[in-house]
Amino acid sequence: MIDLDSLTSSGQPLAFFFDLDGTLAELQPRPEQVFIPAETLAALEQLARRYAVAVVSGRPLAEIDGFTAPLRLPAAGVHGAEWRDPQGELHRVTLDGEVLAQVGQRLEAVLGDHPDLLLERKSVAFALHYRQAPEKEALVHELAAGIAAEHPEFKLQPGKCVFELKPAAASKGEAVARFMELRPFAGCLPVFVGDDRTDEEGFAVVNARGGLSVKVGEGETVARARLPSVVAVARWLQDLSRDLAPHYKQGD
Ligand SMILES: [Mg+2]
Repeated sequence: MIDLDSLTSSGQPLAFFFDLDGTLAELQPRPEQVFIPAETLAALEQLARRYAVAVVSGRPLAEIDGFTAPLRLPAAGVHGAEWRDPQGELHRVTLDGEVLAQVGQRLEAVLGDHPDLLLERKSVAFALHYRQAPEKEALVHELAAGIAAEHPEFKLQPGKCVFELKPAAASKGEAVARFMELRPFAGCLPVFVGDDRTDEEGFAVVNARGGLSVKVGEGETVARARLPSVVAVARWLQDLSRDLAPHYKQGD
């Protein structure tokens, strides 16, 4: 299915980057209903014993940690706007507090009239979910695009039934590139697995470094490999971790 052997044949170690929603975890009607299955977490933990592993998500770091607990991996949250480096140090893109408050008020004012739309506030970003009301996609898009046009510090990030306003300086590609500067990621061949449009920037960085980009599900992509579903990702991870098991003692 995915040929990691050709990558590992070079002898260069691998580094893994995983998106969370729609990759490690199935999408759910509401974002707070999402969870990573126990078997997937166990496989991730085994993988992290042997390789550099990071989670790169649109979720805030605190939520990522909640999903992977008790495992605490290097991670980038809010599409790279906040991240914890391999040494455990936190970094965050900052935005003007007044602008954040203004934008938040404006979004609340509009979404107050639409109880089937969900406004998710993140530290330096806003997510407008319309999964419960797909017919309102155009309305949400217009609102978010209008704010992004007025406030260049924000970039419009479309996703699955969501439009996000994220800091313009943040991207998953940036996040991957930053991790690749640091041990234990530096010098590794990167593997990035993701399902959504925000992941395309991560795929591009990985492709440029000769690594393996893996798109989950259908849709146009620059990724070089594909897994059909979250279930397929879980199986692949479990196969990988089983293959690793005999090598633990040598690696540690
Ligand atoms: Mg995703």
